Amino acid sequence: MRIGYGWDSHEFKSGIPLRIGGIEIEHPRGLGGHSDGDVLLHAITDALLGAIAAPDIGTLFSPGDARWKGADSSLFLEEAMRRMKAAGYAITNVDSTLILAQPKIGPHAAAIREKLAGLLGIPANCIGVKAKTPEGMGTDNAAIAHAAVLLEKSKTSSAKSSTSKPGHSQSKTRH
Ligand code: MG
Repeated sequence: MRIGYGWDSHEFKSGIPLRIGGIEIEHPRGLGGHSDGDVLLHAITDALLGAIAAPDIGTLFSPGDARWKGADSSLFLEEAMRRMKAAGYAITNVDSTLILAQPKIGPHAAAIREKLAGLLGIPANCIGVKAKTPEGMGTDNAAIAHAAVLLEKSKTSSAKSSTSKPGHSQSKTRH
């Protein structure tokens, strides 16, 4: 197994759409950045890359590269997934925490989890999306995201059967 951890922050700016977790959220301000500023996708991308000891998102997708200007951040996540699969791993679950003063994420959490489920290829019940307000942190003009992932080696055709070993004591059946 491997664990991965990612963190990101972006500053709110007027006049641009707000994208968090691959969905657009109605809000007067969006998150600035060279790409679409999707702080949650960036944190999850870095968590996946970190789990396989790959270069981080800023190294693979340089902010100085015109190709990524305004880019849909799902492109970065897809590249991290490709590298993870090439390394022989699959995602078991993802957990994340957003820290932002506004907007409230609760009403959008289910939609974000469904979107992430599609992007990550795992069920929505394996994806945690939590949100907190930045009490006393002085970061009301920013959105912060933390993400953790658990990876397991991909299943192979030589996977063991579930038959118990001879002589192993049998547990009582519980109903
Ligand atoms: Mg970022």
